[in-house]
Amino acid sequence: MTNDYRVIKIRELNVYANHGVYEEETANGQDFFINADIILYSDEQDVLSDELDETVNYAELCSFITDYMKNNTCKLLERISELLCREILSRYSLVESICLEIRKPDAPIGLPFESVSVERKLSWHTAYLSLGSNMGEKQKYLDDAIKALDSEIHTKVTAVSDMLVTKPYGPVEQDDFINCAVAVKTMLSPAKLLDFMHSIEQAADRKREIHWGPRTLDLDIVFYDEEVISTRDLNVPHIDMQNRFFVLKPMSQIAGFYRHPILGKTVNQMLNDLEQ
Ligand code: ATP
Ligand code: CA
Ligand code: CA
Repeated sequence: MTNDYRVIKIRELNVYANHGVYEEETANGQDFFINADIILYSDEQDVLSDELDETVNYAELCSFITDYMKNNTCKLLERISELLCREILSRYSLVESICLEIRKPDAPIGLPFESVSVERKLSWHTAYLSLGSNMGEKQKYLDDAIKALDSEIHTKVTAVSDMLVTKPYGPVEQDDFINCAVAVKTMLSPAKLLDFMHSIEQAADRKREIHWGPRTLDLDIVFYDEEVISTRDLNVPHIDMQNRFFVLKPMSQIAGFYRHPILGKTVNQMLNDLEQ
């Protein structure tokens, strides 16, 4: 997030709705109070603008929240707040981040208390993915994967590189690859994004057989914001990207000036180094 931002704050929006674990809560309903901080992408021009379509209309947003709270029923405040955050991020393109608190002052606790609430913060992140296929209808597997990445509310494809045909990498004898890179904005954490990508690979009949062997579809995370992640299941930035022409070349088209958070080099510099 940049330093220059604006926040629209909604305080104590009162909605009568039916969320709760107990039957009387879903049957009879109760009061909920909503607090939201809506952080918007902003530059100087945006904030000087006097036009409603260059911001989020808070009246419209309040009625959206009210309708959503009334038209859905969840057992847990966690779930309804997560769903609402996702809807608001995806619906209002100027929103970069949201912090939403849902308060339930009449929760059935049976003890003297003032209030109980759940707060959720959710933001858009930028990730770059490398896609490859070298089995069957390769181009179709890639096109379908890009559509699938764009199809859920939590992830949107913002750029796609050209397709690149390359010789296979590694020791296994196999057909040529088609590779490309895509930029996405996503609300998912890196681990959840990887799960989502695995589900897309599975849908493309991907079998996990020989390492580096032929596959219908391979989706790797190259970058996720400026994050550095080293866990058993995930290394970000991708651990070998700087040595792979088929990753760097498409990436240079959509993120040439993106800087590797550990190596300190841009994608263009890494590509240049590799080509030397
Ligand atoms: P390579 O990672 O060298 O390109 P691969 O893509 O052929 O190899 P896979 O069999 O597709 O390897 O994936 C093996 C595991 O690698 C995945 O299940 C995942 O947990 C892990 N992994 C680690 N870092 C990443 C990453 N940045 N993107 C995708 N998978 C990753
Ligand atoms: Ca790979
Ligand atoms: Ca992979």
